Amino acid sequence: MLMPTGGGKSLCYQLPALLREGCGIVVSPLIALMRDQVAGLLDSGVKAAVLNSTLSWKESSAVEQSLLSGDLDLLYIAPERLLTPRCLDLLSRARLALFAIDEAHCVSQWGHDFRPEYMGLSVLAERFPNVPRIALTATADELTRSEIVTRLNLDGAPRFIASFDRPNIRYEIIEKQNARSQLQVFITERHAGDAGIVYCLSRAKVDDTAASLAKAGIDALAYHAGMDASVRALNQDRFINEDGVVIVATVAFGMGIDKPDVRFVAHLDLPKSIEAYYQETGRAGRDGKPADAWMTYGLADIVQQRRMIDQSTGADEFKRVSVRKLDALVGLCETAGCRRGRLLDYFGEAFGAPKCGNCDNCLSPPRVWDGTIVAQKALSCVYRTGQRFGALHLIDVLMGHSTERVAQFGHDQLSVFGVGTELDEKRWRTVVRQLVSLGHLQPDSEAFGALKLSLSARSVLKGDSKVMLREQTATGSPRKRGIKAKTVRSGAALSPDAPAAFHKYDKNGEANLISVLRHWRTGMARKHNVPAYVVLHDATLEGIASSRPQTHGQLRAVTGIGDKKLERYGDALLSLVRSEAG
Ligand code: ZN
Repeated sequence: MLMPTGGGKSLCYQLPALLREGCGIVVSPLIALMRDQVAGLLDSGVKAAVLNSTLSWKESSAVEQSLLSGDLDLLYIAPERLLTPRCLDLLSRARLALFAIDEAHCVSQWGHDFRPEYMGLSVLAERFPNVPRIALTATADELTRSEIVTRLNLDGAPRFIASFDRPNIRYEIIEKQNARSQLQVFITERHAGDAGIVYCLSRAKVDDTAASLAKAGIDALAYHAGMDASVRALNQDRFINEDGVVIVATVAFGMGIDKPDVRFVAHLDLPKSIEAYYQETGRAGRDGKPADAWMTYGLADIVQQRRMIDQSTGADEFKRVSVRKLDALVGLCETAGCRRGRLLDYFGEAFGAPKCGNCDNCLSPPRVWDGTIVAQKALSCVYRTGQRFGALHLIDVLMGHSTERVAQFGHDQLSVFGVGTELDEKRWRTVVRQLVSLGHLQPDSEAFGALKLSLSARSVLKGDSKVMLREQTATGSPRKRGIKAKTVRSGAALSPDAPAAFHKYDKNGEANLISVLRHWRTGMARKHNVPAYVVLHDATLEGIASSRPQTHGQLRAVTGIGDKKLERYGDALLSLVRSEAG
């Protein structure tokens, strides 16, 4: 089963395990994830348990006992535990509904998450030939898929491949100007009070960014491998269990985090590949409600990633693959077309429409202009200055700035000095970056920041090929904010008894009730020591707030309220709804 994060992967084994006789055994390498899943299942009235190294001997024996006496619906086991003779023996004495092998791509030696103990799972086919097995993953290219089939002895098994589209995620990639203030505007204007993840490349940047957001009044916490372990664990717990915490982290954060109500994922640095970008942004909006994947990037990001590849100790083949992957991601950043279409295309899936209507390029299409002449000016400036300077110096020469450095190298004497006054500095930066991403310029692997001509630059200089450039969209700029503010004003201008105004009033009441319900949920989560979303999802709170149920029957009709939740929380919820109405 290949299904993207948030697509309902767990349900594919949880439901059959409940319907079949016996206990479903779930193999998962992620202890934190197991713990959260089991907490969620228990709260929904499913008899679930976990067997891993965090349990005491006494706790383990209790779990083993309930398995043998048929008291368990689902049992989560770490692979290394499962493969012990003791555990295999235990399983052979129990009645089993199925084996679900989660994160099945870990079996692939070529993948990014290889776990040797996964190779041993082929023993399940030999020891338990009559127990059905299902392998699941959210990330596997064609090669990995066939490796999973071979190594887990799943020849001839039906394959289910779900679409990789995450329609509720809005993709947006903007030009980096002042990343920190761009991020702050993005959070305060569009995600105030929401939970979100901000990814940075370095630990120092994580610390700085978290501190600057906190200073701006945003509930932001840092997370990276260099921190004190107890502080890090505390920050992660607060992010998972509380409402509206923003975590600023390196890519080390996220594996095994199953928080459904992450409303945005922001990238302040370019990831390594589209796979990484997709995996990281995929942590947003797992509950299916609208979420943002927002990234700010600039020329320095491309140069930095290229440098990391050049300086890595990997083999040449590895470097070539890495450069290709980076280029594909830069292509996604620079495209003037639909980002979703581009993403899905990368994963071999056709979107089936030219526009998705839910990415920045679809919502406000960028202008594309013929930049052949400015490209020629920039490229000849690179050539005339000896292909050993960075973007800032090149722009100084093009714009005719007599800086100390320009004079020092005699660049004010060159024919290209001051030929580019038709563009301002900011637009020149965009042009140079696009020349890099289009492949006409390339970062010099020897001299940091320096740009040199690539082969394709020649045909541009000779006038044989055209260069089409993309005008930067002004998302998050005052212009767009102005439009938003105006809409709100015209709404407020309606007379107080107009239907729209009434609706607005009603929405306010709903918002109040939601915040009351959230407050109650935080208390319940603390009391039972589980994440807030395990008590009830956001979508369920919103369902209650909009339908305002008066009876148990009406409350039961809200999505996310099952018999168990009704029994446990029904009275409390109804009295909250009533007290808000009064
Ligand atoms: Zn689109």
